[in-house]
Amino acid sequence: MFQYFISNIRSAAALIGGLLSESARSCPLCRTPARGIQLKADIRASLPANAALLGICRACASEIPWIGPIACAVCGRPDPCGDCARRDTAHFICSRSAVRYNDRIREWLALFKYRGDERLAEPLADMLDIAFRRLEAMLQSRMPGHRWDAVIPVPVSSERLAERGFNQAERLAELLCSRRSLPLCKLLHRTLHSEKKSLQSRLARLKSAEGLFVADNTAVHAFVEGMSRPGPVNLLILDDIYTTGSTIEACSEAVSSAIQRYLPNRNVQVYAVTLARS
Ligand SMILES: [Zn+2]
Ligand SMILES: [Zn+2]
Repeated sequence: MFQYFISNIRSAAALIGGLLSESARSCPLCRTPARGIQLKADIRASLPANAALLGICRACASEIPWIGPIACAVCGRPDPCGDCARRDTAHFICSRSAVRYNDRIREWLALFKYRGDERLAEPLADMLDIAFRRLEAMLQSRMPGHRWDAVIPVPVSSERLAERGFNQAERLAELLCSRRSLPLCKLLHRTLHSEKKSLQSRLARLKSAEGLFVADNTAVHAFVEGMSRPGPVNLLILDDIYTTGSTIEACSEAVSSAIQRYLPNRNVQVYAVTLARS
């Protein structure tokens, strides 16, 4: 009887151990339990140079809608873009995104944002990193030695923060900044809790972002005090999705005008990077 009890405990422990190691190895995007999920050379060859993405399964890797050549030099859209041509003022120079916002990306972002699945943070940050490196390569070719003074995540309202427990843009910014040794600076606040963007028309979305973001004056003051380099102030706004550009524009305006109140003679150059472009 005792032997039987012990052997049952052993097999239960083996089963639990097996489940644990299986779940540790399963794909964070689709949860497929996969042994030794390493991308095969042919899949890796189809990804942008040096893409990490080693923790996800082949099926998910092959579904990532990477943005290849871009058609709009401002917003990084792969298709012809009317929004940027129509805009008469822009407070950011350009934005780059890694992937198109399709159903698959919507699903992965929803698991991360609304279900708080932390295991998605790494593969999503891997994708975002591709957009960052493209932007960085472009800037280094034009301005050798270009350096970032601040990476600024787009804030969520305190209401959203209480609801979700975290800010998805901030989480992605933390990962990017730690990998690339970049300065993460939370220089903005979101003033209002806006209506769900997906329910608004394009015009309403453009309008609703105006005045939605304000600089955190204490943080801006500390940031300016800590600036030791001369020359332009290079800022990178970071968000999960670029839709009309109204959020990036509102953030860029709020942060650059706040910095210029302290440094009226300095040129503030704002760029943006997002995971997805819709
Ligand atoms: Zn998968
Ligand atoms: Zn554009």
